Formats: sequence, structure tokens, C-alpha cells
Amino acid sequence: MSFSSLGLSEQLVRATSEQGYETPSPIQAKAIPAVLSGKDVMAAAQTGTGKTAGFTLPLLQRLSEKPRTGKGPRALILAPTRELAAQVHDNVARYSAYLPTRSAVVFGGVKINPQMMKLRKGLDVLVATPGRLMDLYQQNAVRLNEVEVLVLDEADRMLDMGFIRDIRKILALLPEKRQNLLFSATFSNEIRSLAQGLLDNPVQVEVAARNTTAERVKQSVYPVDQSQKTALLSKLVRDHSWEQVLVFTRTKHGANRLTQKLERDGITAAAIHGNKSQGARTRALNEFKQGDIRVLVATDIAARGLDIKQLPQVVNFELPNVPEDYVHRIGRTGRAGESGHALSLVSADEGKLLAGIEKLIKKQLPRTVVDGFEPTNNLPLKPKAKADPSKARKRPGGGNGKPRSFGAKPGGRSGNGNGNGGGGQRGRSQRASA
Ligand code: AMP
Repeated sequence: MSFSSLGLSEQLVRATSEQGYETPSPIQAKAIPAVLSGKDVMAAAQTGTGKTAGFTLPLLQRLSEKPRTGKGPRALILAPTRELAAQVHDNVARYSAYLPTRSAVVFGGVKINPQMMKLRKGLDVLVATPGRLMDLYQQNAVRLNEVEVLVLDEADRMLDMGFIRDIRKILALLPEKRQNLLFSATFSNEIRSLAQGLLDNPVQVEVAARNTTAERVKQSVYPVDQSQKTALLSKLVRDHSWEQVLVFTRTKHGANRLTQKLERDGITAAAIHGNKSQGARTRALNEFKQGDIRVLVATDIAARGLDIKQLPQVVNFELPNVPEDYVHRIGRTGRAGESGHALSLVSADEGKLLAGIEKLIKKQLPRTVVDGFEPTNNLPLKPKAKADPSKARKRPGGGNGKPRSFGAKPGGRSGNGNGNGGGGQRGRSQRASA
């Protein structure tokens, strides 16, 4: 199968071959004809599947079939984070290299004036985060009455981040007659109800089960005490000579602290999260891509949609609170047919989170204990009864050397506060700046 056999124009096919794409990915094979047909589409797709080209290519083709008459935009793509918005726009720009299409991206956290100027010039495609788009609308910098195609990208994440009200306001500003495309990694009841109100008899597109990414990625668990995680990470980076590793922490605070500790250990590192300015995030990402820094420490939201090619190594410094986020995280490695390795440093107090993840991915992850980093709490693979709290608090080094797992409730241990402040990081503060 080729891109041209899907009905894409010569200009778009040329742009894809310049990107080095040889054949359409499964989601593209299904989504492209559906979008070209003008129908509404509801697609279940995660980052890494090629979903962006799946909606961008046919959307550009539809727009190119007739010229713009007003100032536009004629296509509106909403994305949850600035990184994702920037990356989607980057795709739009690349794929429209041989088309007269004009596009722009707007997101929060940067000055609004230059964005107003861009919009004034007129454009076909606008990529936006919902909050900034509403700000621009309220300041009369953009009108939405010419929108022919609406795309909600990573709709689940937009809802998680509290954007539903902005989205509903935006929907009310759009012409009734338009094409709607909804992309989401997961389909909760909330997404379904949004879809129901939004989509008219949609073509449903789904690619292989959500765990296919996980199949390509070698995954392992390193049981270790929370207090030893930084030291173990430093050792692993050195021993394996990892030159490019993406490390996930649960909190922004944890990301900063880990970055500082690694730097003190002589390992170049940078943090990327919602409290960082856009400039700082872009700089960190570029330095990482260029190989100037070895470790990029990120929170889940900041890492969403990061387009880093062929990342060989992902480390979960802490497990995510939501098992689905684990699948998203490890999807950062092993992309486009490459194999990757996702390694999780798991302390005993994360036993429950690990159990939730293993249930979701339907497999037990192999455990590796590193000499000198044996965890204090050495719990059995399948908890027999309750772990005995007195035994569970043995001193380090007192274990039997090779614990197989630790799914049981830890004996009252709750970590040492190492960036382990629990949930509450999903969206709120990010939303304000996105
Ligand atoms: P996405 O899921 O949209 O974030 O895309 C993931 C990565 O796959 C991006 O780096 C794209 O440039 C790349 N990609 C998209 N479509 C193809 C294709 N047909 N062949 C090879 N790579 C692709």
C-alpha cells in the first residue's frame, strides 16, 4: 500500500516521501480515506502510531481542493499541551511544503501579541491549546466562523486537564456544518459523551490493541528502596553508557530534585515540566535531541506528545498513579519498528501501582535486583497473606539477595518524600499555562 493509493495528492505524497515514510501506518491506512470522504471520524490512537499524519494529510488535501476566501482558519486543531500543539503544527508545516496552505500555532505561556499578528494575516490551519484560543477569541484576535474541519487531538488528555469547559465554549462558536475528527488514546464515559454530542455518524477507526507498543518494548522492574533510586539511576546510566535516556517522575518537584542530583553526580540532565517556561522546555528538548544532555527528566503531562525519534531507553523513576500512563510512557521508546527498553525503579510502597500496571498489560514484568541496591522490603511475588510489618522493616542488606517481587502491602513504609508526593499533578497548574 502507498500514500497515493489512499487518495492523497501528488504534493502530499512528495512531502511524505521527503519525511522518509514509505508506507502508511495502520492508523493512516484507515483514517486517511475516512477523512477524505468528508465524514466525521472517531479514532482510538496513541502517540507513536502516526496518528498526526493520519488526520493532517487528508485535512490538508481537503483544504487544498478549494482556496481560502476569508481570513480563516478553515481547520482548527485543538491539542492539550504546548509541546503537542507545537509538534502537530510542525507536522502541518512539513506536510504542506508543496501546498499554498498557511498555518499557525498558538499556546499559552508565551506572549500573546505575536500570535495576534500571525492570525491577522489570515491562515488555513490553526493549531491551538484551548485556553489560549479562548483568550485570543475574547480579544477579538480570531474568528471561528469559517471552520470547516475541527480536530480534537488527545481528547482524553484535554478532559483530564480540565479543558472541557473551554472546549464546549469553542464548539459553540463553530459553524454547525463542519467535519469533526476526534482522536483519543482511551475512551472513558466522558469521552464517549463528548463524542456523542459532537460527532455525526462517525467512521470508527481503531488500530491494534493498546498494548502493541508494549510488545515491542523490553520491560523490566528494578526493585530498590526509594532512598537509593538516584544512586541506582546514576549507576545504570554509567554502567550501560546510556547517552539518551528519558526519565519519568511523578511530580515537577521530583523532576527538579532528580535533575539536580544527577548534575551533582556529573551526569548532564535537564527537567521538562509545566512550571518551566516555554523557552526553557524547548531548549531542554533540543539539547537532549542533539545529545548535549544525557538525561531528560519529565513529568507525564510534559512528556505527552514529545516527538523524539528512536529513543532507546526510558526509565520510570517512579511509577505513574494511573496504569494507562505507564503504557504512554513506555510508548516513548521502541517507536517505528525500533526496539527499546523501559525500566522501572520500583520501591516497596509502589507495589500496588505495579500490580495495577501488570494487570493492564496482562503480564508479569521480570525483576532484577542490582548488587548493593537490594531493597529493604523483600516481599513475595504473590502475597500469601499479609506481610509481617516487623520483618518487612529489616535493615538494608539483610535480604536473601534475589527477591522476585513485592506485590504486597508494605509495612507502613511511605517513601522518604523523594518527589513522591502522590497525585494531584494532573493538569491543574499545567492547564493554567497551556
Ligand atoms: P505520531 O503518532 O503522530 O506522534 O507519530 C509518531 C512518529 O512516526 C513521528 O515521528 C512521525 O514522523 C512518524 N511517522 C508518521 N507516519 C509515518 C509513516 N507512515 N512511516 C514512518 N514514520 C511515520
